[in-house]
Amino acid sequence: MKRVYPTIRGTMKKSGCRAAFFGDYHVHSSFSSDSKESLHRICLQAVRFGLKEIGLTDHLSFFPADPNYGCLNQFYHSYVNAVEKCRQQFKGMLTLFLGVEIDYHPDQEEEINGFLKVHPFDYVLVSVHYVDHLSLMDESFYLSRSPEVGIRQFVETLQRAVLLPELDVLAHLDWIKRGWQKFWPDFPYQPELLLEAGLDQVLRVLVERGALLEINTSGFRRGMGEPFPGEVILSHYRELGGKYCVLGSDAHRAEEVADGFLEGLEVARRVGLEVVSLYNHPSFTSITKNF
Ligand SMILES: [Zn+2]
Ligand SMILES: [Zn+2]
Repeated sequence: MKRVYPTIRGTMKKSGCRAAFFGDYHVHSSFSSDSKESLHRICLQAVRFGLKEIGLTDHLSFFPADPNYGCLNQFYHSYVNAVEKCRQQFKGMLTLFLGVEIDYHPDQEEEINGFLKVHPFDYVLVSVHYVDHLSLMDESFYLSRSPEVGIRQFVETLQRAVLLPELDVLAHLDWIKRGWQKFWPDFPYQPELLLEAGLDQVLRVLVERGALLEINTSGFRRGMGEPFPGEVILSHYRELGGKYCVLGSDAHRAEEVADGFLEGLEVARRVGLEVVSLYNHPSFTSITKNF
């Protein structure tokens, strides 16, 4: 079935949203092990949708059990060249960012920092996919500990992740809710429990650092009924002084670029967060703007 996408520009006009720039800052390509998509098709889709910017954020993992282990670590230079080629092809139509999604593990900080020091990116997305070396998508994490312990460990990992010096954007903050809903069925998901366990501290550090929080709209297509993080956490971020966020679809196929953005925009508006462009965001000192 062919899907018909409304354009962002059309939606902005209708809703009175006046953002001048708009981009999808969380997109995977065939440089990630879980995607077969070409950069070219991703860019075409972005232009078709009316985006001005796109951030490629292929996975970087130093955890040997992760399918992405060794991918970008090895193919960094091909990745840079492929992005550069698309930059030339889409000049004047689309601004491309060379980004990365770091798979954070507390015991790999040295490797992560060392890699980033010699392999520059326009921006760095940091994600917690694992706690205690167990995937948050894997039921063994949930079966091997009580919700109380699991929540505490997840939040503690985030508290460290948010301090990573190169972090620009913190991705899908409440990622645990996917597995939580599935594997702790007797313990309904409550974002308040994450906040009480210290997630508010993570939000505070983000605000202090001037780093950005991602509204990851894949939550809608993954059956969560809300983005990652959801409205309760986003409102809390706003209350703590957070003003800005970026949208990321976490697309692994071109068809998913900007997927859920209309709903994501709506959530941002409801909680009073401004959806920003990376290119224009003042705190983005790491973006080289060499293009
Ligand atoms: Zn991720
Ligand atoms: Zn991702």
